[in-house]
Amino acid sequence: MALRILINGAKGRMGHALSAAAGDLGLVVGAMVDAGDDLATGLAQSDVIVDFSSAHATKALLEQAIARQKPIVIGTTGHSAAEKKELVALAGKVPCVWTGNFSVAVNLLFALTRRAAAVLGSDYDAEVVEMHHRFKKDAPSGTAARLLEIILEERKLTTQALRHGRQGITGERTPTEVGIHALRGGDVVGDHTVIFAALGERLELTHRASDRAIFARGALRAAQWVVKQPPGVYDMQDVLGLK
Ligand code: NAD
Repeated sequence: MALRILINGAKGRMGHALSAAAGDLGLVVGAMVDAGDDLATGLAQSDVIVDFSSAHATKALLEQAIARQKPIVIGTTGHSAAEKKELVALAGKVPCVWTGNFSVAVNLLFALTRRAAAVLGSDYDAEVVEMHHRFKKDAPSGTAARLLEIILEERKLTTQALRHGRQGITGERTPTEVGIHALRGGDVVGDHTVIFAALGERLELTHRASDRAIFARGALRAAQWVVKQPPGVYDMQDVLGLK
């Protein structure tokens, strides 16, 4: 029998992309849930939850997933670091794939960024620039946050090193800071550039998403994978076998 998915955030941009892509991957949309709808009824009609909604919705959704032991795929971004820690502990009680970006190429960008940060060292100033459509509600993007986390890990820095934009008399750039700049406008699906700049040369790694179907297909692939896993929190590197 075809796997039945519950789309949470069904009326949103990603909700539409998910319902459009489900059939191609042999999945059935068991329930479409948005703010105000009855989640319990939807859960009874589905095998796995795919959530692209709002950061405020994640805790209640996870509690329901745990109560009914339903696997879950989470794409929603915008949680604070403290919220994320608490939510990841909850998510580990069911099989859960959680990532800020379901694109295969972006997951390769994560690996390339780790390699570049390790090889190039602190003489190469690291900055991340992202651009998204004018409707996006959180900044920086979940993908930019992951890219920054990777750079901080490789350079053994804490979040104190992050510079969210710059303004005024900032003084010269220090080798231990990592800049992050979030641009917003138009209908940009999602652009991310990681820059490593030294005196005399600069490396830029860029990914541009032009269709949110790539995220939908990745999330649905994760849904097919997660239903076969024991409880735990996984990411797209696990789904793609990149670890
Ligand atoms: P959107 O604003 O178009 O849609 C969000 C939908 O969620 C809306 O229909 C809204 O009514 C609904 N919603 C709000 N609260 C809800 C609740 N409590 N229960 C159920 N539904 C609720 O946004 P979008 O562009 O579709 O993005 C949704 C989320 O997914 C954002 O956090 C975005 O950053 C993230 N996103 C992640 C990826 C990824 O690959 N991980 C890709 C694209 C978007």
